[in-house]
Amino acid sequence: MDLYYQSTRDSSLRVTASQAVLQGLAPDGGLFVPGKIPELGVELPRLASMTYQETALAVMKQFLTDYTEEELKDCIRKAYDDKFDTEAVAPLAKAGGFYYLELFHGPTIAFKDMALSILPHLMTRAAEKNHLDKEIVILTATSGDTGKAAMAGFADVPGTRIIVFYPRDGVSQVQKLQMVTQKGANVDVVAVTGNFDDAQSGVKALFRDKDLAAEMAAAGRQFSSANSINIGRLVPQIVYYVYAYGRLLENEEIQAGDKINIVVPTGNFGNILAAYYAKQMGLPIDRLICASNDNKVLFDFFQTGVYDRNRQFLLTISPSMDILISSNLERLLYEITGRDDEETLRRMEELRDAGRYEISGEMRKRLHDFRAGYATEEETCTQIRKVWEKTSYLIDPHTAVASKVCEEIRAEEELEGVCVVASTASPYKFVKSVLSAVDRHYKDREELDLIPELEKISGVEMPRAIREILTESPRHRLECAPAEMKETVRRILGI
Ligand SMILES: *Cc1c(COP(=O)(O)O)cnc(C)c1O
Repeated sequence: MDLYYQSTRDSSLRVTASQAVLQGLAPDGGLFVPGKIPELGVELPRLASMTYQETALAVMKQFLTDYTEEELKDCIRKAYDDKFDTEAVAPLAKAGGFYYLELFHGPTIAFKDMALSILPHLMTRAAEKNHLDKEIVILTATSGDTGKAAMAGFADVPGTRIIVFYPRDGVSQVQKLQMVTQKGANVDVVAVTGNFDDAQSGVKALFRDKDLAAEMAAAGRQFSSANSINIGRLVPQIVYYVYAYGRLLENEEIQAGDKINIVVPTGNFGNILAAYYAKQMGLPIDRLICASNDNKVLFDFFQTGVYDRNRQFLLTISPSMDILISSNLERLLYEITGRDDEETLRRMEELRDAGRYEISGEMRKRLHDFRAGYATEEETCTQIRKVWEKTSYLIDPHTAVASKVCEEIRAEEELEGVCVVASTASPYKFVKSVLSAVDRHYKDREELDLIPELEKISGVEMPRAIREILTESPRHRLECAPAEMKETVRRILGI
């Protein structure tokens, strides 16, 4: 039976899965959610013997029902290949009483790769299915991680091009090198002489520009976006939670039916929402633990029922969680209103107008599976050091936030079952923060000089993503002012 997707702000707006992938955001500004969350459709014991690719097919075919099984297999085969440095794709490591689900073995060594390596294939298939004969041009503004992962995903995918804008002085040295060395004939990267907001506002203006859209159409092209509210990113993220359950079964750490807890370092609420969907599908998950850094807007929401973005924005050593508006929370809101589009819309309007909203007591009750916590900067560093000293396992600052919060919650209440911590970035990506947490004397060293040091002390081989930035020469030198972004896009596309 076909599953349709509807807007969180107007349930009567309905599209197929492939149309939702192409559109990204619903036309009314809402997010697409499945008409109902499908069942897993696999007997739990079978998960023990399924590969990552087989698990991906089992999960994705339940959600993306207007793709044929052959089409999905093809997308999965192209996405989860030797771009990942381990056959397991998302291996599960045991350290200090927790299981770390390593989501950083892809081309950019952060968890965004899990979804962005398949999104381009889902998108080009969707274009075919909906008889779109235009080339898809992805436009993205990035503060570092997403842009690189999107470029790596779209590089040399036929029928697509990608243009990424990043703030020239607003990304780390490793991130900058990662971007300017990106390969691919269909990839362009531009440094904007402004901050991230300038780059993002510029991209949003380009999406709204009717004249540019007409010029694009005349040239056989159309813009699209790869941001994290696309269901083509959300659905692939459900897969690794199901896969983790399979690995726990395979290693006889649990019996089929045993509950597990999932802990997620959270920013935009996409990753933990995927775990929530996995639970709704029937995966035996007890608690969903939402971990924040000092930007603890989500912690406060779960504690008080009030979401309030009116607060100072703090820069932390877990920058991918530095966020005050967690877009994907809208999908959870929709579920806890009992799938009430008007109630959801009202909250989102309050958020837009006043920067805050409150949920009802009834809605709060529906959050009973969730737990929330946060880790300060100091606690995050201490956790990195503690885990390292006790277990010789090195975790990045994002993962450390989750690890710390999980310990805290486990001390407060008896959790049923094992804890799986989503490990969202390789320590190599945040080498200076990680090594400085282990030993203060690294604080004054150059970031790039610390990479061999990390290899020596951890014994974990330098990933290809890091080797490449050290050896490849820059390919991208374009630079523009925020006001020149439109002209730059025109020039790149030759229109
Ligand atoms: C994006 C990101 C997160 C946050 O994930 P959300 O889905 O936005 O909640 C956490 N850690 C890392 C390393 C990330 O790149």
